[in-house]
Amino acid sequence: MLAVGGDELLQHAVPSHRIDLGGCCVLPGLTDAHMHFEWFSLGLQRIDADQPSCDQVLALVAQQAQTSPKGSWIRGHGWNHNAWGAGDLPTRDLLDRVAPDHPVFLTAKSGHASWANSRALQLADVSASTVDPADGAIVRDATGRPTGVFLEGASDLVGSHLPQVTVTDVADAMRVGMTRAHGLGITGVHDMDGIRSLRAWQQLRAEDQLRLRVCKTIPLGHLDEAIGCGLTSGFGDEHLWIGGVKIFTDGALGPQTAWMLAPYENDPSNHGMSLIEPEQLVSAMRRAASARLASFVHAIGDRAIRETLDVVEQLRRHERAERVTALRHRIEHVQIIDAADISRLASLDVIASMQPIHATSDMYMVDRFWGPQRAPLAYAFRRVADSGATLAFGSDAPVETIAPLPGIHAAVTRRREDGEPGVEGWQPQEKLSVEAAICAYTAGAARAGGVGNRLGRLAPGFLADLVVLEQDPHTAESMEIAQIGVAATMVGGQWVYRNSAADGFPDLPATDTV
Ligand SMILES: [Zn+2]
Repeated sequence: MLAVGGDELLQHAVPSHRIDLGGCCVLPGLTDAHMHFEWFSLGLQRIDADQPSCDQVLALVAQQAQTSPKGSWIRGHGWNHNAWGAGDLPTRDLLDRVAPDHPVFLTAKSGHASWANSRALQLADVSASTVDPADGAIVRDATGRPTGVFLEGASDLVGSHLPQVTVTDVADAMRVGMTRAHGLGITGVHDMDGIRSLRAWQQLRAEDQLRLRVCKTIPLGHLDEAIGCGLTSGFGDEHLWIGGVKIFTDGALGPQTAWMLAPYENDPSNHGMSLIEPEQLVSAMRRAASARLASFVHAIGDRAIRETLDVVEQLRRHERAERVTALRHRIEHVQIIDAADISRLASLDVIASMQPIHATSDMYMVDRFWGPQRAPLAYAFRRVADSGATLAFGSDAPVETIAPLPGIHAAVTRRREDGEPGVEGWQPQEKLSVEAAICAYTAGAARAGGVGNRLGRLAPGFLADLVVLEQDPHTAESMEIAQIGVAATMVGGQWVYRNSAADGFPDLPATDTV
């Protein structure tokens, strides 16, 4: 971007290169600072199990069973039993009734559980005698028979038997995924998926088809290899670069596996699950830091967040002693934080990478599982922003919709699009201003990705990534923000999306520079 300005600047513009956006609102391109792009893109090809009832999911499975060859896998994602009637976990018998001849594997909306049918269990050789893995559990009935639901790492017992997906398959799916993202105003993503996803991004980059700014994480399981070959945070170029190492400390709210300081409201014996021993967390983050790799730590429960902050505190002391530049460490999700830890995010300069749409999706679960005393500290966007910490917003897609405007709406109103839970919104003291919410999708996300000097602002010297909205969210009625249309999206001075149906919006040249 060469210059940004008012009327005086127009005098310098070549008339044939002028584009009048007809009163639309131009913002810096939106970055989704936490999402799973491979999972999202492949998901576009699969059953959408995010349905209001179990019967609707079963109907979709039945439909696919009728149209696909016997024996082929039926895959899907998005079920959430907490949203279905009594809230009971589903069973394999339900799937067997609608798809007896196809192996079925459906992952939960939280990403922390899966649901399979008997055919799938047979292929995976899972039976009553199968032992639970160390990092998860097989749900069983009173007789010990697996019910078809698998928690956390136990999902791999079946998941590892799914047909192989190649890097090219992923790259093909990502092309479609990129188009979808552009149509929603997204110009960049921080991708939390694995190494296959990194390879697919590189394939797209090599084919000159990468049209998003991608900050990529490396899974903890590959940390030694990353260190061994000298990868550091920031390595790459302005299209694709390494963010850091992704480490899981706990599970999630839905399956009640988020690691908590105090027990779950509905189960005094349950503090959630720690997915890593504290010593292992210290050692992983230390090793990564001494190799100049930042840590992107998944921490949802207040205990998981505290453990992570404790490690960062040690790392910061070390950085100061050694006089090395501070790494851009992040906590992913920050769904419930103890009041004593909020100021530590800012003082330790730990990025709070949060997903506003989770707040309105999960609010009733928060009330139920964490209770009224702790709920004010859940999805505490306002307190975190006011503490001076950098807030970066994302969607966690495909856990939630990838669309950023519904995310801005959720952060600003703390209400669902249908108006729930009422005019005030849920925990309304945590509502953010429109400006702060947009900042978390632009400048905040850029800083979280280590590229705050090149992305996230419309300013000279910054890359020309922008989105044109049909209406200005700053002046729109707050309940209408989620519905604001995207008129066009530009990445690197090139239009990657144009909505020709947008009101009064001019035809744009295929390529132009600004
Ligand atoms: Zn995630």
